[in-house]
Amino acid sequence: MTARHAKKDFYEVLGIAREADGAEIKKAYRAKAMQHHPDRNPGDKAAESIFKECAEAYEVLCDPQKRELYDQYGMAGLKGTDFRHYSSPEDVFGAFGDIFGDLFGFGGGGQGRRRGSDLRYQIDLEFVEAARGVKKEIELERPADCPRCSGSGADTPEDVEICSTCRGQGQVLRQRGPFTMSTACPACRGEGRVIKKPCKECRGHGQVREKKKVEVAIPAGVEEGNVLRVRGEGMPSQGPGGSAGDLLIVLRVLEHPVFQRHGLDLVLAFPVSFVQAALGDTLAVPTLDGEADLKLPAGTQPQAVLRLEGLGIKAGRRTGDLLVQIDVKIPTKLTAEQKELLRSYAATEGVSPKGKKWWNL
Ligand SMILES: [Zn+2]
Ligand SMILES: [Zn+2]
Repeated sequence: MTARHAKKDFYEVLGIAREADGAEIKKAYRAKAMQHHPDRNPGDKAAESIFKECAEAYEVLCDPQKRELYDQYGMAGLKGTDFRHYSSPEDVFGAFGDIFGDLFGFGGGGQGRRRGSDLRYQIDLEFVEAARGVKKEIELERPADCPRCSGSGADTPEDVEICSTCRGQGQVLRQRGPFTMSTACPACRGEGRVIKKPCKECRGHGQVREKKKVEVAIPAGVEEGNVLRVRGEGMPSQGPGGSAGDLLIVLRVLEHPVFQRHGLDLVLAFPVSFVQAALGDTLAVPTLDGEADLKLPAGTQPQAVLRLEGLGIKAGRRTGDLLVQIDVKIPTKLTAEQKELLRSYAATEGVSPKGKKWWNL
């Protein structure tokens, strides 16, 4: 079974094209996950296996960094990342609970594991940075275990005492008629210990705000709204045994004065005179890396789109094109001499010759 998993193509698993964008991937995953959800297929091992497989595909394809590695090197490319196979449906809910949240009412985040929550951070990227990829250093301010007391909240280790009321159990037994009930100890609020003298640094909270620099490698070809996940750089775990949350980096891409994006293609409107369009010319068009020559054929019509292959955005193995939309400008101011020239031209050919109808009713 495992060997078969390793060979399956993630795009095939989700039934999407290799060019699918983030929204299509998410949509496809939700549909597949719903179809093979264990709640709908109780006891069906095959459905469970597909359910896990879809989660693996989604984990890789929705993460631009992992997707690029996967596109380039296949499964081998994921070796250095935190990618893993999901062992159970619960494992999937822990990772993607937020996707199922509104569908099935799962809480998400792994119940009872006391995982720290995710931190969201927005980065504004220049158009070219998003196209080419860039390294960004961001400074986060978030709570962390107090360095002075290592999170205990006590001034010295001797200032932590086992709670005498519950003898460290955190629970006390109460007699209610014939029943003995266990409730949280009121003296230590269930902690099992009391602090005699609180730490000066964190005033007994055990946590302080920490500033930390995190370097983020943003892969080439990211788009507005993409989210990068940096494992373990979110909020610290809530209580012992839990893991830290993730840092979710939401990308904003600023507009470019000249280029627009359509997937991996760049689109550019290029003004030419009607004489250039009629006679043809060689245009020097701007590209992401400088300039490129573009042959404008004689007789090019307004709004014609000329394609410069491979001069779009590169993301992994995929490369877009540069699409040049020809914007023919008609002059609005003519000198007497230019008017004369155009009239003589019209006399030779005639733009709309008298008595000649192009329509036929
Ligand atoms: Zn107690
Ligand atoms: Zn402290």
